[in-house]
Amino acid sequence: MAKFSVDDIVRNNIKKLVPYSSARSEFDGDAQVFLDANENSLGSISNEKYHRYPDPLQKKLKEQISAAKDIHTEKIFIGNGSDEAIDLLIRAFCNPGEDNILTTPPTYGMYEVCAAINDIAVLKVLLTDDFELDMHKIKKSINKKTKLIFICSPNNPTGNSFSTSDIKDLLEKFKGLVIVDEAYIDFSERNSLLKKLKDYPNLVILQTLSKAWALAGLRIGTAFASKQIIDILNKVKPPYNISIITQQLAIKVLSSNADVFKNVKVIRYEKEKLLHDLKEYGFVKKVYESDTNFLLVKVSNATALYNYLITKNIVVRNRSNQPLLKNCLRITIGTPDENAFLIQALNEYK
Ligand code: PMP
Repeated sequence: MAKFSVDDIVRNNIKKLVPYSSARSEFDGDAQVFLDANENSLGSISNEKYHRYPDPLQKKLKEQISAAKDIHTEKIFIGNGSDEAIDLLIRAFCNPGEDNILTTPPTYGMYEVCAAINDIAVLKVLLTDDFELDMHKIKKSINKKTKLIFICSPNNPTGNSFSTSDIKDLLEKFKGLVIVDEAYIDFSERNSLLKKLKDYPNLVILQTLSKAWALAGLRIGTAFASKQIIDILNKVKPPYNISIITQQLAIKVLSSNADVFKNVKVIRYEKEKLLHDLKEYGFVKKVYESDTNFLLVKVSNATALYNYLITKNIVVRNRSNQPLLKNCLRITIGTPDENAFLIQALNEYK
C-alpha cells in the first residue's frame, strides 16, 4: 500500500489553524447560570426554548449514530447535509489554484461545483459505456496535485454501484483521500464500506439522512473517517452548524428506524414495478438497473418527453446534457399513487 499520511495532504494553513473556540466548546458541563455566550437569557417571547446555542459537536446525536452504525463517535462528522462535508473536505485538503480533485462523470454535480467555488481544478474521468469506473484512465490521470477522488456509489444519476475491488484498488494505490459517497446506500442490497474504515486510513464515507431516512428538509449529512480526518473537518466547520431543532428531530427519527425499513421496502417494490412497466413502451430504449430510489431511463426523445410530462404536472430530471446520458431522464420513485399517475400519463404519450 502507498504510504498515506493525513499530515502530508492537509493544507498547511489548516494544519496551523487555531480553530474558533466557541463558548459551548470551552465549557460544556452543567451549571446553574450560563453567562458566557451572549445569548438572550430571558428567552424568546414565544416561549420556545431556542435561546441557547446548540451543542457544537452534536454529542447525543453522534452517540445514536455510533450505536446504529457500530462506529466510534470520534469517527463521525455531522454536516448541514452531506453537501457541507463535500465542501469542507475540498477546503481543508486542496490548495486553491494549485491542487485538483478527480471525479467520474456522469456523477453528482456538487463535487465539481464545490471545487470551482474553491478554485480547485477537476480531473474528470468518464465512466465506461456500461457505467463502470475506468480504472486505467483514473490511474493515468492522477498526478502529484490530486488530493481527493470522489466516487459516488451507488452513483447518481446512473443508479449502479461500483465494484468494491476497484474502490479498494484506489484506496491502496492513491496517496490522497478516496471519498465514497453512499447517499443511496440504504436502498441497495450491497454492503456499505463502513466496515473497511479500519483498514484504510485514506477512506472517507459520506452518508445522509436526506434519502432513505426521508429528512431532506432537515439537512443532516454524515462523514465517517479516521479521528484525524474528522478532527480536521470539525476544526474548519462553522461552530454551530447543526441547529438545536435539527439535532432533536434527528435523534427522534433515528430512534424509530422501523419506518425506514418499511419505506425502503415499498420504494424497492415500486421501483421494480416501474422498471417493468417502463420497458413496455416503444419510446423507452433502456431502463438501467438501479441500487437507488430512482431509475435512469433512455428514451427516443428525452426533451420532448420531459416537456410532455410537465404539461401533465409531472416533473422528472432531464439528464440528457450529461456525458454518456444522451436522451436520458432520471425518474425518482414516488408514492404508489404518484407512480400510477406517471404511468397513466405515459399511456397517453404519443
Ligand atoms: N450525494 C449525492 C450522491 C446526492 O445525490 C446528494 C443529493 N442529491 C447529496 C450527496 C447531498 O445530500 P444532502 O441532502 O445530505 O446534502
